[in-house]
Amino acid sequence: MAKRLEMTRRLQPGTRLVLASHNPGKLREIAGLVAPHGVDVVSAGELGLPEPEEPAPDFAGNARIKALAAALASGLPSLADDSGFCVSALGGAPGVVSARWAGPDKDFGLAMARVNLEMGDAADRAAWFISALCLAWPDGHTETFEGRVDGVCVWPPRGARGFGYDPMFVAEGETGTYGEIDPARKQATSHRARAFAQLLAACFG
Ligand code: IMP
Repeated sequence: MAKRLEMTRRLQPGTRLVLASHNPGKLREIAGLVAPHGVDVVSAGELGLPEPEEPAPDFAGNARIKALAAALASGLPSLADDSGFCVSALGGAPGVVSARWAGPDKDFGLAMARVNLEMGDAADRAAWFISALCLAWPDGHTETFEGRVDGVCVWPPRGARGFGYDPMFVAEGETGTYGEIDPARKQATSHRARAFAQLLAACFG
């Protein structure tokens, strides 16, 4: 029986790529990951694209919704990240609704305080970040990759160098939080970097 080969579509150097995010912290990190690989990036905000709803129950589903919406609206290949902070003692919450825990004012001080309150004095301090990256094309073709980084929750939050839940997370092998360490260290091994490494191997060049 003939074996069906999955065709992976590759981004050539010089291609214009939309970064389908409105989150400045994520945009900074994704742009930094993409920068060395010769594509020409433009953000969804610069193109005036709206921010779609994220109704899927998982990271990959939401990343696909965001990337496809941008690709269809712009006519350009588009890259989206859906990510979140998952706490073992909270059964993986806030997870896919990590952004919503910050409320309409996007107050991550409030979101971190809620995580800490709900954890109480649980002995299990384990937590992880997940990033799903989806590259979508205007004809509907998509490729999705997921990365994860494990660590522990700390309280009180420390450092102002990252974004979101970074100040309360210490990754395995680090002593500082993601809010304290050199952003280049986070960029080398984070959940987003791990998802991007797979995407790079499959879809770039
Ligand atoms: P969404 O992918 O737009 O649903 O938002 C994910 C949310 O998860 C972000 O708003 C952040 O609060 C959080 N998050 C995702 N990645 C990171 C990270 O690298 N550091 C800190 N918080 C993150």
